[in-house]
Amino acid sequence: MQEMVHKDQLKGHRAVVVGAGRSGLSAAALLGSLGAGVRLLEKRTGFDASQLETKGLSDVELILGEHRQEHFKGADLVVVSPGISLAMVRSLCPEGRTVISELELASWFISEPVIAVTGTNGKTTTCMLMQNVLEKAGRRVFTGGNIGTPLSDHVLSGKRADILVLEVSSFQLQGCSGFAPHVGVLLNFSANHLDHHESEEEYFRAKMQLFARQSPMDLAVLPLELRARVEKDFRIKSNIPYFAPTGRFDCPALPGAHNQANMEAALLACGFVDVSRNIFDQALQEFTPPPHRQEVFLQDKGVRYINDSKATTLEAMAAALKAFDAPIRLLAGGRYKGGDFSLLARTLQEKAAKVYLFGDSREIFENAWKDSVKIEYFPDLEQAAARAVQEADHGDSVLLSPGTSSFDLFSNYQERGEAFKTAVRKETGITLQ
Ligand code: ADP
Repeated sequence: MQEMVHKDQLKGHRAVVVGAGRSGLSAAALLGSLGAGVRLLEKRTGFDASQLETKGLSDVELILGEHRQEHFKGADLVVVSPGISLAMVRSLCPEGRTVISELELASWFISEPVIAVTGTNGKTTTCMLMQNVLEKAGRRVFTGGNIGTPLSDHVLSGKRADILVLEVSSFQLQGCSGFAPHVGVLLNFSANHLDHHESEEEYFRAKMQLFARQSPMDLAVLPLELRARVEKDFRIKSNIPYFAPTGRFDCPALPGAHNQANMEAALLACGFVDVSRNIFDQALQEFTPPPHRQEVFLQDKGVRYINDSKATTLEAMAAALKAFDAPIRLLAGGRYKGGDFSLLARTLQEKAAKVYLFGDSREIFENAWKDSVKIEYFPDLEQAAARAVQEADHGDSVLLSPGTSSFDLFSNYQERGEAFKTAVRKETGITLQ
């Protein structure tokens, strides 16, 4: 495939893009701009095809419905959107076809140095932090990938940055054959997305792809807790600093040991591209984290209200329970993604006054925690939030940190977080803060 890397060589070739989400559309636009004929496959038959026109993709051939072998006939290149199984796509493609991710495609056309971040938790927070640090150091930064703007959009924009900060998922990495960031950061790893990956081992290997093609001039930032596993099974050519939280950073908006770990990783990455510790520390003082991540959005009558709707994993919930003082009134529940929640029973016993369960997965949480903490169940988040507000006393923290995905009651974690904030504001009567 490498001979197709040159932009001009895509001209006249046929490319198939699988998935018409944000990155799929962006990949289709990039391929189209390079002169390739593009066929776009989308499973959702309800997909709104008028989007193609607004995005300047009217030349794209759109096929809706189940993916079938004949859809891949004649394709020189297949680009797969995140979340779609590469193995499934490969099984439908003619033998020897190049199947890649949108990240791999876009990476062929960039010339800026890249800091790429992966891990189970903390990717967005750490990318945003690094963006702030690098901008404070006077660099023009593009931040994107899995957060916000796909890398293909950056390529298409024709704008040059000094450095790219990319959040990359295991799906995107599995579809890479040439992508090699100057700095790769693996923040942490725990079994997650096992609904998409065959096994924990496969998921770990996908994450480690980040370092597979780095050179001795590059940097691989890895957590100390994974050192034995990394050294046993992987040969990395780049320099490896291992990090662990030491508690040395002062960032008012990023509490807890997990954020100290994120900051250690960020400092190593930013230091490698010549940012001073002084600039880094200044940026920490001014940093505002993205919403829905341990976001203290309201204080009323001595009660602190925290929206951590993005906590969709057990580890993120654990991080929140550790980061805030007792007594915590925890709102949890939603679509279970995996994880042994009984591991948190002790922490809850120590720190939680009560758990307000809502939505799906009631039994999973009740079975894990019923002997450790008082639990009450509500069919929806609004009722759970109202009760927590009514029962909270001076000194309490009311924390939404669901530990699950939001798809039982909401279309995404943002909607869940906003619903929580609205319910709290309604019950407290405080609309402005
Ligand atoms: P990601 O982009 O990987 O999903 P986010 O920065 O959006 O990560 O944070 C998701 C959730 O994980 C939030 O609840 C956040 O507080 C929590 N979190 C952030 N960093 C860590 C970490 N190092 N370990 C565990 N949880 C974390």
